[in-house]
Amino acid sequence: MARCGYCAAETELYVSQTPICLTCSEQREQTRKPPPRDQQIRTVLVAGLVEASARSSAASQAFNNVMNQLPSGLPRPDGSQQIHNASADLAAARKELMRADNRLNDYLGRGIVPENLTPTG
Ligand SMILES: [Zn+2]
Repeated sequence: MARCGYCAAETELYVSQTPICLTCSEQREQTRKPPPRDQQIRTVLVAGLVEASARSSAASQAFNNVMNQLPSGLPRPDGSQQIHNASADLAAARKELMRADNRLNDYLGRGIVPENLTPTG
């Protein structure tokens, strides 16, 4: 009987011509295997959507704050700059949210993997 190349336990199991016991073989199997790619991609996409959603509602809140701080009637010149900034932030955040939503839907519905998640090389 051979001895496991990792823990020297007696074994009859060979992997790639190397004697290995069942315990070590199982351990190596587990550590070598990354989480399923599908699950990884989903996790990243869902996290992106959650993040974009949080940013969008923060921007929406900020926009409302600016609007509420202004006196009724015509906004003052500095007020209009604030509105402009807040509404640009809000538009950008909403666009990002829409993209995150599309990425997740494209993946779930049509199996399209976003470019930044495709393996390189
Ligand atoms: Zn072993």
